[in-house]
Amino acid sequence: MSKPDQSLRFGLIGGGPAALFFYKTLLDTGRSGFSVDIFEKKTIAGIGMPYSNEGAGMEHITNVSGNEIPSLVTSTADWMKQLPAARLTRYGIDPERFSDYRVFPRLLFGEYLADQFELLVQRGREAGIPTTLHLNTTVQDIRDNREHNTVEVKAGDGLYTFDHVIICTGHHWPCRQEGRIPGYFDSPYPPAKLEKKFNHPVAIKGASLTAIDAVRTLARFNGSFHEKQGGLEYTRDEGNSDFRMVMHSINGLLPAVRFHLEDTHLAGEKLLTEKEVLEHMLDNDGYLSLDYIFEKDFKEALKKRDPVFYEKIKNETIEGFVKMIMPARVAKDAFVLFREEYVEAERSIRKHESVHWKELLATLSFAMNYPAKHFSAEDMQRLKKTLMPLISVVIAFVPQDSVKELMALHEAGVLELKDVDTDSKIEPAEGGGIIYHYGEGKQAIFKTFVNGTGQPPLDMKDFPFQSLVEDGTLSQAELRFRDPGKGKEALARDPEKVRDASEAFFLRVPGMAITDSFKVIGTDGFHNPRIRLVAVPYIGGYNPDYSGLDFCEEASCRIVRDIFPQ
Ligand SMILES: Cc1cc2nc3c(=O)[nH]c(=O)nc-3n(C[C@H](O)[C@H](O)[C@H](O)COP(=O)(O)OP(=O)(O)OC[C@H]3O[C@@H](n4cnc5c(N)ncnc54)[C@H](O)[C@@H]3O)c2cc1C
Repeated sequence: MSKPDQSLRFGLIGGGPAALFFYKTLLDTGRSGFSVDIFEKKTIAGIGMPYSNEGAGMEHITNVSGNEIPSLVTSTADWMKQLPAARLTRYGIDPERFSDYRVFPRLLFGEYLADQFELLVQRGREAGIPTTLHLNTTVQDIRDNREHNTVEVKAGDGLYTFDHVIICTGHHWPCRQEGRIPGYFDSPYPPAKLEKKFNHPVAIKGASLTAIDAVRTLARFNGSFHEKQGGLEYTRDEGNSDFRMVMHSINGLLPAVRFHLEDTHLAGEKLLTEKEVLEHMLDNDGYLSLDYIFEKDFKEALKKRDPVFYEKIKNETIEGFVKMIMPARVAKDAFVLFREEYVEAERSIRKHESVHWKELLATLSFAMNYPAKHFSAEDMQRLKKTLMPLISVVIAFVPQDSVKELMALHEAGVLELKDVDTDSKIEPAEGGGIIYHYGEGKQAIFKTFVNGTGQPPLDMKDFPFQSLVEDGTLSQAELRFRDPGKGKEALARDPEKVRDASEAFFLRVPGMAITDSFKVIGTDGFHNPRIRLVAVPYIGGYNPDYSGLDFCEEASCRIVRDIFPQ
């Protein structure tokens, strides 16, 4: 039996951006009579990992501008205007020149989020919503109590009982080799650990935003950038002439450059509605078809926005479309293409004109995120193999400042990009550093290695609240093969990844099973209305494009709509 709203108790586990958006969405319902407890292990709420010193130094910037951020209490531009000039100049920002179209230093953005959280809590309390912020408080365990329809949370020295718990503990970067192997870094976070001189080549795995974070930190502590006509130049510090960085990426690709977005929140007004998706699934044996969503949420939108480009691809399948785009990217020198895309993006920003196919690909990725759990295993495999590599390159949206730095480093001979394939391997070396095995007997030795591939998807064993794993409240995410024959073949190829359930075969995908409204699904198939999971590393299988502030907002709306249907 669910309780009347008056006595609903919400527990938010983790007080980062996801909690911030969830709290705001709760307030936006205009309801009252419920209480909210927010548990945050740090001393500040709202900043989360990427916008605090756990995930950023002074050199790191967001990849979204003020106008692309889902709305909170104050716009970023208005917030900036209220700040004392000294606070802005600390970040090298000229308040006169700042606009809502500019990206932010991440730490400053964290200050913005923290301020917004404070304002919201104040607003909530004024609206009569008891809100308790438990700062400096780590949640140690969570237990579901089916008998009483409640959830128990063990935090600090206390035990708390809630009707709804939202797990928004966010990013987690497990240390697998770091600390055991000298010179081996499992991630570039916190950046402070890379703030030193490396007078030798540094290997970085990856070439997208996380790798670029590593590059920006290493570059600053081993040399300096100077303005020059038309860009930047880089010089290594004296006595540091052997410092250089080698990024490694599949097919030697660099990500695409940030451009002007027509639809700043990638909301795609003309996208398939939930009702349409459901109707399609009913006609399709319960599965969402990847081809259908590609036709409807990409091609049809493209037809309106860029008819010329649409004509070129209108008869292409997903595989055909990727084949049209990818080989041209792969064939070109990555830094030459980077420069060309920089010019294209500058024009797009100056003229406020989007690069439609790229924007729509980002929209497609965002739109696909939620129903992806309804793909067949075959379609998920196709998505991962074919479209995802292109999407991940396109939607990184590398900010202009980072592009300028990367180009300056490359011109100075300090940054190179090594093309690797999926078979390449990294072997931690006994005495420190790594051996990078490139295949066909080729290898390179590096004294320092940084894994810059981004948030790894994590599984149950890494989950911080093991009681939920042990009592079966959580279950492994998996997708059914539509064709049992294909499932059987996949099982023979990769027995670790496929489960044989006699009549059917299931592909294991990373993380835990959740519903469309983020309810956790138990081992008995129970859709638990008390516990919602939005912690990004643990839902990657069902939500392949899960990261970002837009996700925080969208997930919040979906949960709140489910708890308080209109
Ligand atoms: C380096 C980096 C840069 C990014 N940049 C951008 C960007 O520019 N634009 C964008 O849209 N997205 C960006 N993202 C995406 C990012 O995922 C989201 O913006 C956002 O951080 C997700 O918020 P979250 O609250 O889910 O997670 P987090 O930011 O990780 O916050 C989780 C919070 O939970 C707390 N917590 C964890 N465990 C416990 C516990 N047991 N008890 C109590 N508290 C706990 C943590 O201290 C933290 O404050 C970036 C991601 C990374 C990793």
